[in-house]
Amino acid sequence: MRRRNEADNLKISVAIDGPAGAGKSTIAKLVGKEYNLMYINTGAMYRAVALKAKENGLSSNKVDEICKLISKMEMHFENDDLIVDGENIQEKITMPEISNIVSNYASIPEVRSILVKLQRDMSNKFDVIMDGRDIGTVVLKDASFKFFLTASADERANRRFKELQKRNIECSYDQILKDIIDRDYKDTHRPTDPLKKADDAIEIDSTKLDINGVVEKINEYIRKGKK
Ligand code: C5P
Repeated sequence: MRRRNEADNLKISVAIDGPAGAGKSTIAKLVGKEYNLMYINTGAMYRAVALKAKENGLSSNKVDEICKLISKMEMHFENDDLIVDGENIQEKITMPEISNIVSNYASIPEVRSILVKLQRDMSNKFDVIMDGRDIGTVVLKDASFKFFLTASADERANRRFKELQKRNIECSYDQILKDIIDRDYKDTHRPTDPLKKADDAIEIDSTKLDINGVVEKINEYIRKGKK
């Protein structure tokens, strides 16, 4: 992983935003490998907060307690997975019960400001590719490259359904579609840092593209932009 230093004039940061299930993380990992960037999955960080708050019986109105809890959590990424206090929590945080509550915690301004600071600290140390909802608009406003990934809600629900089925997690397509639509609504309508395309982001609709098609498009923009 390329660690940055002061004299480094080859700084590169890539922001990928978009709604739930648009393929951001799969694509960010592949593009990150191509350009040797550290992948920062900011959704995983919000999910980790929701998981730990749930384990501690803290509902989303317990703002002070939640902030105290976050201040005690050590979070870092290893091989694209989020490690919290030494534990790889990737499996736990991608369960539907966390997907269904995460937006409630992510809409708390105090929580956002703590996590945004952690994310910026990571991007100051490493060349990063970061995905989320507010990367191009808030976290990395000056990112070298910004992309906004979309796909129809049906296609996104279909992808999530297949992924959960592969992991033998019981689910219904209709429920997943409903959950995705609810989460999109909450993420785009919250007052603090809502999901929004940055004016200077390149929008890519992946409804009819496979993963490789999207990765190739992004790689091409980066290749051209780096010249
Ligand atoms: O990307 P993922 O679907 O895992 O994100 C989970 C949730 O975390 C989102 O639905 C959103 O509520 C929140 N989130 C956010 N800002 C980010 C990344 C995720 O609010 N930068």
